[in-house]
Amino acid sequence: MAFTGAGISTECGIPDFRSPGGFWTQYKPIEFGEFMRSEAARLEAWRRFFAIRDRFAGAVPGRGHAAVAELVRRGHVACVITQNIDGLHRQSGIAAERIIEIHGNGTYARCLTCERRHELDWARAAIAAAAAPLCEACGGIVKPATISFGQPMPEQAMADARAATLNADLFLAVGSSLAVFPAAGLPVTAAHNRTPLVIVNREVTGLDGLAALVIHGEIGDVLSRVVELAGQTESIAGRSQKSRRHGPA
Ligand code: NAD
Repeated sequence: MAFTGAGISTECGIPDFRSPGGFWTQYKPIEFGEFMRSEAARLEAWRRFFAIRDRFAGAVPGRGHAAVAELVRRGHVACVITQNIDGLHRQSGIAAERIIEIHGNGTYARCLTCERRHELDWARAAIAAAAAPLCEACGGIVKPATISFGQPMPEQAMADARAATLNADLFLAVGSSLAVFPAAGLPVTAAHNRTPLVIVNREVTGLDGLAALVIHGEIGDVLSRVVELAGQTESIAGRSQKSRRHGPA
């Protein structure tokens, strides 16, 4: 299985969280508790959300997303767990049931009470009228369908992610500082379960010591090469199967 973080989307023009550059310091996250407590905080959170979204709405999947999608298509990757909220794995053509979004999805909103889905254009109209959106069905607080700091993790997604981790025969962690918990607990679980942990990242992560293999490099380059090697391995396996069936040429 593959586990991805913000680093897989930097090639698409979406900055990550911790690399130097400071983009996110302008949009310091508003914690969940504050969002729930105050209408002013909700309005500000929504405004920051749209400021970020408008800047990156045109982003399209990059080489890393394409490589992961290809590994899924060829049956090498059964499941993608992502911390990203940009929806680019879905956009790269991977079926929704193979993607587990443990920090939610920033392409729509949800009511925190009845969980009804709301579209962002509808929420934008409320914000334009200086009111934080409330659910049309039950009057509950509506929030982008992402998980904020301090917000409980989605139970089903985390249970699915843990099951996929325990089932994996290899855990490929790509483009994550592996510093955000509980998400980073998944590669720890894999390593403790004696599943080989492979980390692909530009810089050192806190979990490199647990990994069977660490590749420090650009995700687009490394994963494109992995796809190439997978192709070569498949054709060697195909040739040897054929010669076993037909005897030596
Ligand atoms: P992070 O910013 O903590 O770590 C990203 C890592 O990727 C860094 O170690 C960086 O060196 C590496 N990296 C960046 N570009 C790379 C490249 N092209 N090749 C190789 N390595 C590269 O990100 P995280 O661990 O995912 O945690 C950040 C949190 O913020 C997550 O919870 C995520 O939900 C959220 N976030 C999401 C997005 C998104 O959806 N695209 C963007 C920013 C933050």
